[in-house]
Amino acid sequence: MDCLFCKIVKGEIPSNKVLENDNVLVFHDIQPAAPVHVLIIPKKHIASMNDAADEDFALIGEMHRAAQQAAAELGISDSGFRLINNCGRDGEQTVFHLHYHLLGGARLGALTG
Ligand code: IMP
Repeated sequence: MDCLFCKIVKGEIPSNKVLENDNVLVFHDIQPAAPVHVLIIPKKHIASMNDAADEDFALIGEMHRAAQQAAAELGISDSGFRLINNCGRDGEQTVFHLHYHLLGGARLGALTG
């Protein structure tokens, strides 16, 4: 399967890792949109949040735990952060391997449409 993030999981494309366990990988976004901008991905290929099956939600919980751990690791727990999932066309998803963006390190402003 020709998936960019699966290639990152397999080490075929390099990434700047923040943390990794058996099921989840966290690495720095190549085009940061904030002083801290990392991506939390499952090692299992799930195309989008829309494609998550019932059995994937424990794994999605693990992604949330990894986000909390990465925030601590990156020193943004106290100041706060934003955790975003872009899903599908209207969500402007560009990489079809489920991921959360963890953004922080500055005041991010209110969400707008
Ligand atoms: P999306 O738009 O929510 O699908 O987010 C995809 C993200 O992947 C974007 O923020 C990109 O900057 C990021 N990205 C694309 N290729 C790479 C890469 O090779 N390494 C790290 N981040 C990447």
